[in-house]
Amino acid sequence: MKIIWFCIPAHGHTNPTIGLVKALTDVGHTIYYFSYEMFREKIEGAGATFFPCDEYNFEEQDKEFADKFGKDQAFAVKLMVSATIGLDQMVSEKIEELKPDVIVADSVAYWGKLASLKSGLPFICSTTTFAFNRYSGKYNSHGPGETLRMLFSMPEINRQIKRLRDKGYPVKGLLDIVTNDNDTNTIVYTSKYFQPCAETFSDQYHFIGPSIRPITEKYEKTAKKTVYISMGTVVQNREFYRNCIEVLGNTDYQVIISMGQNTDHFDNVPDNIEVHESVDQMAVLSISDAFITHCGMNSVSEALYFGVPLVLFPQTPEQGAVCKRTVELGAGLRLPSIKTSDILKCITRVLEEPTFKAGALKVSESFKNCGGIDEAVRFIEEVAK
Ligand code: UDP
Repeated sequence: MKIIWFCIPAHGHTNPTIGLVKALTDVGHTIYYFSYEMFREKIEGAGATFFPCDEYNFEEQDKEFADKFGKDQAFAVKLMVSATIGLDQMVSEKIEELKPDVIVADSVAYWGKLASLKSGLPFICSTTTFAFNRYSGKYNSHGPGETLRMLFSMPEINRQIKRLRDKGYPVKGLLDIVTNDNDTNTIVYTSKYFQPCAETFSDQYHFIGPSIRPITEKYEKTAKKTVYISMGTVVQNREFYRNCIEVLGNTDYQVIISMGQNTDHFDNVPDNIEVHESVDQMAVLSISDAFITHCGMNSVSEALYFGVPLVLFPQTPEQGAVCKRTVELGAGLRLPSIKTSDILKCITRVLEEPTFKAGALKVSESFKNCGGIDEAVRFIEEVAK
């Protein structure tokens, strides 16, 4: 079987796919993975053929504005259309040449879904966040300002949709592209228990559980309680890290911080605190008793898999949804502010009140009972038949 796979340039959307890609190539399927240079090694390591999209990413005039993505609805649609049209010729030629049986695309790599609509090939959506429909959407709710902005954006959005139609993409409106329905074949990297409103999704949705990478280097536990802190691979917040270091330096906890490129901004870090640019997160979580997280779906899932309760500090609406669900299931506590007193209060409660650990273990059990990669492989094979 031949699969074309599309992803966006983000660790959080790429990492969960790697184990599945490896399992597919291990059993002899061919995967052409369209992604970005920074992920080449990971993708090739999983046995897939890598195709870089970097140079086609956007039409020329939009390259410099790419950082506005997400801040303005009409602009986001314009970029999505621009990315699709930028990739259009190369992708159409590759589909013609490679003759895949199925297209798999990340839930926000819309150009993958559009390529399947244009080519008529079967499509599977790879969802590394919660699956999204009108019920679970309320977890991600936008304020009235957002709705108003959307309304005023409609003429521009409609102009962009027309550009897609002119290029041969059979789409009626924005909803055809950005939302899936119960007929959309979908792989979701979580359990039905953790997914909000799971009962509202059809059997076309396969909740396979999070993708947990093997531990590559063992981490030594040096104190009775170990606290891990990370804001993921995108968010930066120096003041937050500074406050954590200040308040947790006075405790007897072992504190491990993964801080990305921020590491050089902190001198005189107390002995009980280690600051790293990046860690083997599976190894660290396997010895942790609590995790202060920005609520990235992957980080939270990985922690809960290891039964680690959470202090939750979301930065985006999507992370807010992950936070809300974790609190609902009793596996964590939301940090009200980055004041040192709040950080200490929350971490102490999560470490000392056993209900948080129990909540985390319940989610862990649901993850371990999922069909995992085997279920996803069977599903992809069935759709491609
Ligand atoms: N990660 C890691 N080492 C680190 C920090 C993060 O391996 O030091 C991984 C983490 O295990 C997770 C991903 O990076 O798989 C972060 O994804 P998430 O969805 O949590 O957040 P994002 O970075 O997308 O905001």
